[in-house]
Amino acid sequence: MDRAGDCLAIYYFLPFIRWDRGPNAPSQAILVDLANSRFYFFFIEIWPQEVYYITGLLVLAALALFLMNAVAGRIWCGYLCPQTVWTDLFYAIERLIEGDRREQMRKAKETMSLEIFAQKLLKHSIWLLIAWWTGGAWVLYFADAPTLVKQLATFQAPAMAYIWICILTFTTYTLAGFMREQVCTYMCPWPRIQAALTDEYALNVTYRYDRGEPRGSAKKNDALKKQGLPAGDCIDCNQCVAVCPTGVDIRKGLQLDCIQCGLCMDACNAVMAKIGRPADLIAYDTEMNIQARIEGRPELRRILRPRTLLYAGLMVVVGAIMLTSLALRERVHLSVMHDRNPLFVRLSDGSIRNGFTIRVANKRLDERRYALSLEGLSHGKLEIVGAKPDQQGRPVLAVGPDQTMEARVLVTVNEATLPSSTDLRFTLTDLASGETARSADHFMAP
Ligand code: SF4
Ligand code: SF4
Repeated sequence: MDRAGDCLAIYYFLPFIRWDRGPNAPSQAILVDLANSRFYFFFIEIWPQEVYYITGLLVLAALALFLMNAVAGRIWCGYLCPQTVWTDLFYAIERLIEGDRREQMRKAKETMSLEIFAQKLLKHSIWLLIAWWTGGAWVLYFADAPTLVKQLATFQAPAMAYIWICILTFTTYTLAGFMREQVCTYMCPWPRIQAALTDEYALNVTYRYDRGEPRGSAKKNDALKKQGLPAGDCIDCNQCVAVCPTGVDIRKGLQLDCIQCGLCMDACNAVMAKIGRPADLIAYDTEMNIQARIEGRPELRRILRPRTLLYAGLMVVVGAIMLTSLALRERVHLSVMHDRNPLFVRLSDGSIRNGFTIRVANKRLDERRYALSLEGLSHGKLEIVGAKPDQQGRPVLAVGPDQTMEARVLVTVNEATLPSSTDLRFTLTDLASGETARSADHFMAP
């Protein structure tokens, strides 16, 4: 419940964190701005053509998952996965209203009374409220959160916001309220993948069979122990199986269905406390340690091993590449497209003209003026349709903060210096910072 509360608090709270980017940009720390095709994450702003940063983040997330799995088994499933978090919360509400599992099973056999009906109504109402709130928080990541909250409350929000809230309310209510661990068992691919990635050094919820076997009733095993005969601490009470949400008997070893929720550990510890035996018959442990104890060798914790070092090393490399490219990313971008038809035009004085469409992206949060110049065609005359030249005769474009601008560019070469088709390069220079962007193309001639 605590972990569910923490994760939910982060999820609900994040859209309200503010981040000052100046007057020309949104002040929400995490924002997916679909209307303007931008993604904001604190000091990072990602443009559509920089989607490789999102790919890098996904690679980092996958490596983190692999590393977590190599160190502590399915810790993601048990503590961090949204499905687990919401299911935990729904379970907690169910227990609070309808009592523990035994109580619930007893009530299920009884005929419906007003009290049972009222409990069920209350439980489903709270579930629906949480599910609705979950959908409501999700849409806040796609617009200015405080504004959208006001719009939602006064029924003035865009229809799409209400549609998404309805969809997510339905999916949360169904997945966390009814499907629960079946999502992990039948729908999620991660248990299959992690089974291939895990090894005997990974910490997992483990039945310590070296201590528990041979199992038997408390009385019988106590008697056997007194006679110096082998007897384990497991009294075969089946409590660990009864509490398991996926019906796993952890005593049969690590299984795909086990989501590492730890409920069997708690149940077994309660049993051990009652019969006066040490706790942790079921605990986080490794197969290597169990074998070591059986053979009388010291236990071994090997967090640093080739696969953990490999995953950690790859994370450092990917992270360093991303940080470096973020630090060195260009704040101005130029793309050029040559006219397709006609490729060139012969003017009345015999000179040849090529037409281009350029697109300038100003990634800074203030307006910038850019001068365009030409390389590779020394006698070419450059003109931006509708733009004035600067003192050096270069045509200048003004582009608003965090915006792109498209313009028509004409390159004319007079008859006396007419080349055959040749390469050329456009250079765009930020008049304030001197930063440049270049783009290569061709000049087409007869
Ligand atoms: S709860 Fe503990 S003692 Fe009871 S069956 Fe499971 S492992 Fe054995
Ligand atoms: S109760 Fe135990 S065996 Fe069942 S899913 Fe949770 S950790 Fe795994």
